[in-house]
Amino acid sequence: MVDFSFTDEQQQFRKILQDFAKEELLPNYTKWDRENITPRHLWRKLGELGVNGLRIPEEYGGSGADCVTTGIAAEEIGRGDFNLTYAVMLNGLVGEILAQHANSYIKNECLPQIASGEKIVGIAITEPSAGTDAGGITSTAVRNGDYYILNGEKSGISVATCGDAFLIFAKTDPSKGNRGISAFLVPSNLDGLSTKGYEDMGNIPVGRGSIYMHDVKIPASYLVGEENKGFSQVMNGFDLSRLLIGLQCVGAAMQSIEETIEHVKIRHSFGKPLATYQGVAFPIVTHHTQLELIKWQAYRGLWLRDHGFNHSRVSSTVKWLGPKYSVDAIHECLLLNGHYGYTKEMPLEQRLRDVIGLEIGDGTAQANQMVIAKEIIGKEYRCY
Ligand SMILES: Cc1cc2nc3c(=O)[nH]c(=O)nc-3n(C[C@H](O)[C@H](O)[C@H](O)COP(=O)(O)OP(=O)(O)OC[C@H]3O[C@@H](n4cnc5c(N)ncnc54)[C@H](O)[C@@H]3O)c2cc1C
Repeated sequence: MVDFSFTDEQQQFRKILQDFAKEELLPNYTKWDRENITPRHLWRKLGELGVNGLRIPEEYGGSGADCVTTGIAAEEIGRGDFNLTYAVMLNGLVGEILAQHANSYIKNECLPQIASGEKIVGIAITEPSAGTDAGGITSTAVRNGDYYILNGEKSGISVATCGDAFLIFAKTDPSKGNRGISAFLVPSNLDGLSTKGYEDMGNIPVGRGSIYMHDVKIPASYLVGEENKGFSQVMNGFDLSRLLIGLQCVGAAMQSIEETIEHVKIRHSFGKPLATYQGVAFPIVTHHTQLELIKWQAYRGLWLRDHGFNHSRVSSTVKWLGPKYSVDAIHECLLLNGHYGYTKEMPLEQRLRDVIGLEIGDGTAQANQMVIAKEIIGKEYRCY
């Protein structure tokens, strides 16, 4: 049986988020960018709406919803405020990793606060000399009695400037490559930990930056999962976040297309609405079609995850082409709005800047093509 329909509950949830995005997010989307503010009150509002806790079990304050429902949240919040979709993606990713691998002390302490939106928790893998080659990180965590001592630098980390804690990946056995990496939940106020924000092109309210660790002493109970198993935990989490990112981008791009369709119906040239010219209509049709293909590939991936099937390749197709098709669509929409589209009066220039960020974050086009190549050509031909 093939069934492409959403349940009544999922459709109701979509409607609630659609209204919220239209009424409360869209009017202020550019404000947080212009004023360089992380709107923490909106993270809490997402908590009230049940968005932050979708991938967190009920006993820890979440709803334990499925991945398809989480995808609906990514898509609809993406229509209103692309930067706020980091809450959907990060809380989905971190929530799942902690729920599946952390001990009950961490789960009780942290998950309810993530679900409510009180706490923002980032995920820190990338380093100045290791991004695509995530197994090449050099941060270390050395066991010392009941503690680990963390040293190293993380770079490019979302919510670095506003995170209350970070899921930090460090080498516990540097001789073993990516089989020597462990994950730790590290509160951002610990001695020896400091952060520095970047002046980014987009995603301004997300507060991306670097994290510096100098002899950060963390209790051994903050190890998440087994020692040296951190890499496989995060790779499995990426299979979810990459699908959510595809939908976040599609949401922002579809919103841009709908706004542009309204514009080309009203704006005239040579005595007729722009929409009557195929030179205007066909690019809109092309982008709309590409986005729909990505959207359904993303929901297919989420369905596969919900049903326990392998979906790494599908996730990578969505992460590779979702941000790309969305950037292409928003760029075209900007052009179809003429010189108005180029002003900061309209949200299009910001959407373009914001969505480009996720052509890189969570794995570039090439990183995702490596995953696809490994599966369809064979792992004996991979480059690493
Ligand atoms: C908006 C944003 C948010 C981010 N958030 C986070 C976060 O929260 N946590 C986190 O840990 N990191 C985060 N990052 C970092 C991101 O994951 C890395 O930037 C990304 O993985 C690429 O790594 P890099 O920048 O070191 O580039 P590099 O790995 O140096 O790659 C540079 C270029 O070379 C290409 N390349 C590299 N190797 C190959 C190869 N073998 N074959 C072909 N091409 C190759 C890449 O595709 C890329 O185009 C974020 C980045 C951005 C832009």
